[in-house]
Amino acid sequence: MKMILLGAPGAGKGTQAEILSKRLGLVIIGTGNIIREAIASGSELGRKFRSYTDRGALVPDDLVVEMVADRLAKPDCSGRYILDGFPRTVVQAEKFEEIGGRVDAVINLVISDEEIMERMTGRRVWEKCGTPYHIHNNPPAEAGICDKCGGALVTRKDDAPETVAKRLKVYHEQTEPLVDFYRAHGVLTSLDAAQEMDRVTEEILAAVGEK
Ligand code: AMP
Repeated sequence: MKMILLGAPGAGKGTQAEILSKRLGLVIIGTGNIIREAIASGSELGRKFRSYTDRGALVPDDLVVEMVADRLAKPDCSGRYILDGFPRTVVQAEKFEEIGGRVDAVINLVISDEEIMERMTGRRVWEKCGTPYHIHNNPPAEAGICDKCGGALVTRKDDAPETVAKRLKVYHEQTEPLVDFYRAHGVLTSLDAAQEMDRVTEEILAAVGEK
């Protein structure tokens, strides 16, 4: 099973990827998380990434595709993975195919911009491990603390309202064309991502024939 989770920032891709990874034993390749790890490491590349993420812009296609190719080459990825946040442009999708990337299913998480704005203000993450939480919909066992690592949860800088507005604009202009791209490939399932989290998971499992 190789799957892409497609959708606007805040549609629930990271949360569903965590759940599906446990249910189906899939490795998550989350480009946003890989980018945040590089930023947290303080490397030269991380500083370069930050100049894009802080203003809600996309990191250049070539850098992201190279990052994904490196990650896919690791043995734990063989055959079973979820791509969360990649591809983000049609160019990335085409380059992904050029490097031999294939997927069985693309799940398009559909949600309105208004709902996303509402969700983003409650989103929390611990930057080092990237596990996503929400103060209402998906709270950690202890408020403000990551269940997995015990790190202090924060609001991502790119979840600030003006940056979210910019990210939504970027999503509509650069990422949404992928819906038609993958529909034409015959692998797309669109579903309502404003539903309860568990319901969305069940619909994804049904769409990929795991239920
Ligand atoms: P995410 O956590 O997936 O919302 O990603 C956070 C930020 O990382 C995005 O706003 C982009 O700046 C960058 N990013 C993540 N994935 C990609 C990608 N596939 N292509 C370009 N930029 C990306």
